[in-house]
Amino acid sequence: MGPIRTTIVGSLPKPEWLSDPEELRAPWRQEGRALEQGQDDAVALSLAAQVDAGMDIVCDGEQRRRHYIWGFIDHLGKVDFENPAKKQSRGQRYSEETAAPRVLEEWAWNGPVLLDALRFAKAHTDRPVKVTLPGPMTVADSVYDEVGGRSDANFAAAYADLLNKEARALADAGAAVIQIDEPCFNIYTEEVKDWGMEILERAFDGVRAKRAVHICYGYGTEVVLKWKNANTDWSHYNVTLPLIADSSIDQISVETAASGVDLSVLDCLSEKEVMVGVIDVGTEEVETAQVVADRIRQAMEHVQADHLIACTDCGMVPRSRFSAEGKMRALAAGAAMVNRELGS
Ligand code: ZN
Repeated sequence: MGPIRTTIVGSLPKPEWLSDPEELRAPWRQEGRALEQGQDDAVALSLAAQVDAGMDIVCDGEQRRRHYIWGFIDHLGKVDFENPAKKQSRGQRYSEETAAPRVLEEWAWNGPVLLDALRFAKAHTDRPVKVTLPGPMTVADSVYDEVGGRSDANFAAAYADLLNKEARALADAGAAVIQIDEPCFNIYTEEVKDWGMEILERAFDGVRAKRAVHICYGYGTEVVLKWKNANTDWSHYNVTLPLIADSSIDQISVETAASGVDLSVLDCLSEKEVMVGVIDVGTEEVETAQVVADRIRQAMEHVQADHLIACTDCGMVPRSRFSAEGKMRALAAGAAMVNRELGS
């Protein structure tokens, strides 16, 4: 094994018998016991696909969640997903208003939500297992607080305390990496500075695992791609990445394949491990190993090889299974090419 390791951000498409593999938030096709068994089977398949492809750090592919936020927050208290409110979320970058699930009661942590899922994953692989959790700023931005009408900062702070209990429990049970997903860090730069970073640190307090944060521009859906292709201003990273560089966070996942980010923004992270996005999740087309290797070589001008984890840009839930598996193989093959050049 060479210095450059590989992993995916989190989600993989689900098998067709479990839910529609190419649709976000697709409903389950099973229920009750059949759903539970189906999710177990899907996790086992997803782990096997990651190991077969050659991922060094694996996860459950988020096969037990309809969405990276759903499937966790609804265990903290009553949330109405069926009759969402309208909210101006994501800084109105992709649309004027989005559907926001209503928070109907004060949330509480009544014991681990994802512990059994972690145990199942660990029983099915001997590779280090990562668990992904929705971040405070992103959750606050995504829901409508019917209970307290709190500001996003106050809502995020309250949620971070619950998230911290979950993260500690998962780390104590042997999660190698706890990754908190904060796509909103790429939108609310001022808020990251004012409260987002502090609250993220609170979520990680006392967590005895590698602490990771994933920031991105969202799945490769049409509206997001349109925004991404038109954007040329990456200056927000000059604010957020130095803050992360100064934090207790160990690993930072940054989307670079599809976004065209100027990689020099990574220079400030020299003390950290960087999960560099070298797989575009917005297209079905599978990259060649050569393309992946080229992207890794470019990143190596800014991140030293033993701090570099080659990764996808974001989750692959909107992709077909064929494409997602091909992209993982390309990811591993590209990293192996560069590792061979480095003499490993
Ligand atoms: Zn993402």
